[in-house]
Amino acid sequence: MQDQLKAFVKLAEIDRAARHLEEQLEGIPAELEERRLAVSALEQLVLGQKREMDDAAALISAQDEDIKQRADMLSRSKQKGAKARNMREAEAAERELDAIRRSIKDGEAEKERLEGVIAQIREVLAEPLRELEEQKRELVEAEAASGPRLETLRAEREVITAGRREAAALIPKPIFRRYERLRTQIHPTLAEARDGVCTGCRMQIAPQLYNQIIRGDDFYQCQACNRFLYHRRAIGEEEVTDEGAGAPLE
Ligand SMILES: [Zn+2]
Repeated sequence: MQDQLKAFVKLAEIDRAARHLEEQLEGIPAELEERRLAVSALEQLVLGQKREMDDAAALISAQDEDIKQRADMLSRSKQKGAKARNMREAEAAERELDAIRRSIKDGEAEKERLEGVIAQIREVLAEPLRELEEQKRELVEAEAASGPRLETLRAEREVITAGRREAAALIPKPIFRRYERLRTQIHPTLAEARDGVCTGCRMQIAPQLYNQIIRGDDFYQCQACNRFLYHRRAIGEEEVTDEGAGAPLE
């Protein structure tokens, strides 16, 4: 049992040392993903505005086409008016001319309005566009840098976690599985029981449980924080009280 507890303590020490590496190994891809989402959200926004701008531009060309056709109509109507044989025909031609002139004017006004819409969108979009380009560039850089960084971290973890598998193999499977589950929630996952207290959460340990932990006849968990607990005496190490903490171990 003492060997199992010793292996457990060693495992927890390895995990504790590797913890900051694990955090970075998880954090870097998570951060990249977050940035990718932010870039794509901004891109959607910009694209939506650009589409509005394209729609307005398409309407302007349609208006241009219309205006051109009406100008043709106008010159044809003028020719017709010149050929008017009497007052009635001349008046009718004049009314037609007026109507065409009005529709051309309306078309010009609509064009102006659409050009205003485009100018406004362009102005509103200038900053988000710059921001989008910058974020994209930074994301590409971060993605490029993350590969080698992750590789370095993995290599460091490899070194730090040497011996972990061997230590884990000595621990009963159900205990190891429970430890691994707990490890995703609480750090460190194994704490020393000292002077009747869990050093993980500083809560008092029930006297009977504390005695069992000292005996080291099984794996025990803190009733307050759920951490696994061990006592130095149970792994054959000299006991250190809080008063003596920091003194070198023999
Ligand atoms: Zn505790």
